[in-house]
Amino acid sequence: MIFHAMPVLNKRRIVIAGREESFQIAYVRNRKRISILVDDAGEIQVRCPPGIPLRQVDALLVREKNWLGNRLTDVRLKNLHRRTLGEGSALPFLGDCLTVRLGHWGRGSVFRCGDDLWVTGIPPADVDISLDIRRPLERWYCRHAKAYFPQRLDYWAEKAGVGFNGLRVRGQKTRWGSCSSRGNINLNWRLLWASPRVVDYVLVHELTHRRHMDHSPAFWLAVGSLIPDYQECRERLQSLESPW
Ligand SMILES: [Zn+2]
Repeated sequence: MIFHAMPVLNKRRIVIAGREESFQIAYVRNRKRISILVDDAGEIQVRCPPGIPLRQVDALLVREKNWLGNRLTDVRLKNLHRRTLGEGSALPFLGDCLTVRLGHWGRGSVFRCGDDLWVTGIPPADVDISLDIRRPLERWYCRHAKAYFPQRLDYWAEKAGVGFNGLRVRGQKTRWGSCSSRGNINLNWRLLWASPRVVDYVLVHELTHRRHMDHSPAFWLAVGSLIPDYQECRERLQSLESPW
C-alpha cells in the first residue's frame, strides 16, 4: 500500500487491493478517536480529532486495509445491482430469459405474461427502483420454486427408488440444496435461475444422499446413472450468477 500526499491536506490517496482510492479527512472538534467509514456512494470518509498527524491516520488505514477492501467491494456491488435491476433487465428462469417490465399502475404484484415479468405498483417518480423490486421478485421466484420443486422431486424419487420426509424451499446464499440423515430436503429457490436440467441434477444429488451420505465414488456413480451429464450440470451450477 502506498500513500501519496496531495496538495490539499484533507484529500489523500491510498492503494487498496491494487486500486487507487481517495479519501477525505474531516477534522471534527471534540472528537476523541479516528473513525473510518465507507459511505453509501463507496467513498472512504475519515473523521478525526484536530491536530492528529497524517501518518497516524495513514497507519490506521493500513491496519484496516482488509476490512476497507471488503467494505468497498460490498458497497460497490450493491450499487452496481442498484443500477442494473430495472425496466428491461433480463432475468433467467428455468432456461427462459424473462424481461422485467415496470408498471406504474395497480397494486404491488409480480406476474409473468409471455416472456415479460411485470412488477406493478411502482411509484412513477421512483428513482431507486431496484431496491423496491428485488423483494417482490424474490417472493415470486420462491413461490414458483414451491410449485415446481415438489413435482420434480417426486418424479426423481420414484426413478431413484428412494423416499424423503419433507421439502423446504429456502433462500440461502451459499447452498443450493441439502439432505439431512432423516431425509429432510432443503432446496434453494435461486435454482430457478438455472435450466431445468441443472435443477434436476441438484434434486437427484440430494435424493442420492438418501443412500450415500457422502460424495464417494459410489455416490457419483448413482448420480450418473440418472443424470449422465451431471459433470456439465455441476459446472453450470458453479458459474451461475445472481441476476441482482
Ligand atoms: Zn452432496
